[in-house]
Amino acid sequence: MPETVTTDPAAAPTTSDDVVLEVRDLAKSYPVRRGTVIKRTVGQVQAVDGVSLALRRGRTLGLVGESGSGKSTLARVLVGIEKPTRGQVLVDGEDVSTMSRAARRELRGNVQMVFQDPYTSLNPRMSVGEIVAEPFRIHRDAVPAGGRRRAVGELLELVGLDPDHAHRYPHQFSGGQRQRVGIARALAVKPRVLVCDEPVSALDVSVQGQVINLLEDLQDELGLSYLFIAHDLAVVQHIADEVAVMYLGRVVEEGDRPGVYDDAHHPYTRALLSAVPVPDPTAHRDDELMLEGDPPSPADPPSGCRFHTRCWLARRLAAEEGGAGDGPDAVPAPCRTEDPVLVPLGRPGGVGDAGPRGGGAATLPHAAACHFAREAAALGGRPTSAAATTDGPERDAEHDPADHELGDDTAPVPETVPDSPVLESRER
Ligand code: ADP
Ligand code: MG
Repeated sequence: MPETVTTDPAAAPTTSDDVVLEVRDLAKSYPVRRGTVIKRTVGQVQAVDGVSLALRRGRTLGLVGESGSGKSTLARVLVGIEKPTRGQVLVDGEDVSTMSRAARRELRGNVQMVFQDPYTSLNPRMSVGEIVAEPFRIHRDAVPAGGRRRAVGELLELVGLDPDHAHRYPHQFSGGQRQRVGIARALAVKPRVLVCDEPVSALDVSVQGQVINLLEDLQDELGLSYLFIAHDLAVVQHIADEVAVMYLGRVVEEGDRPGVYDDAHHPYTRALLSAVPVPDPTAHRDDELMLEGDPPSPADPPSGCRFHTRCWLARRLAAEEGGAGDGPDAVPAPCRTEDPVLVPLGRPGGVGDAGPRGGGAATLPHAAACHFAREAAALGGRPTSAAATTDGPERDAEHDPADHELGDDTAPVPETVPDSPVLESRER
């Protein structure tokens, strides 16, 4: 769907009409510098390396991957804090790099960011009212008719805070309340897209659910589109319509939520899913899938498939062929030598069908970048009982295990849930 702008709106394909924010073949690299006095560039960190994604109107795209996979870099490029090394960012089908500065600023107002850490992203010396009103200084035309003070009060109310607390300072609020302030600030100039970079990762588990519920309510009320970033698939499971999984600067799997969660085809996705807690303690867990160690450096990514150095499937397949140890035959040859591309999986009835909530828009076709994607799908991954409970296309409170994990204060976390990063609540 490259032609997003056509003169005749009726001639525009409905899928691209629906896209509010898009990146095409986006890359961002940073120089690696060495030397104490004279710094010289000794290499490049490929933080994001050829990512194409489309965000649809009123929808949530979940972006997941371990720390260092390039999620925040992608987010910064999307909201215009950083320029891409290669590729395009399109807002409403228009390439932002070819616009005038004024047009870019206006369009940029449509894409706002919610940051990970409400402790550091809010200026401690500014009152909450000043923080929320700050975007009006940059986007002067966005100052509402009723004035800033009234707008601030309305914004605080919108995110569930007391408008009378506008004069208070960030340290007078709890972590969850501070993230509400961050969301109010992001909403000040009435954006249509929020890029939420791990918005709940620094929050206590019970509060995570409240903030996610708030984001969902705001989406329904304001028709917002979200790029929702998390390192954990459990967090995104609750809110995402579509999911993209990143590893070392690349998207390795993407698709609509049921496709990715119940029918993951990339061994990396399978491994991430095996770490997602399930309420059923009797569910089978495949320990061999657990990811070990840290991802390799994006300054020197592995040859062939970037995931091959940590891939359980490659090791398993090679072992079946008699290969073992750390030698060259520890993984099948293509994994070491050929860089896999994202290939649509052509799920019967899955590709290009009506959206998950019957909105009529085409869904993100399920695709994976793995030489042995079909073997991965056939060979374990998520505990079976969990897959069975997440089938439904609707957000279903009764059948969505994420609700048990992320629910509000009134939903107790099941005691039987195994260890998980999401459930390790940070002390306040
Ligand atoms: P994530 O958000 O998925 O954890 P990041 O986008 O923060 O990943 O980082 C991706 C990679 O790019 C990491 O290896 C990180 O060290 C590197 N990186 C990010 N920002 C910079 C920068 N400003 N300068 C150099 N390297 C960077
Ligand atoms: Mg990050």
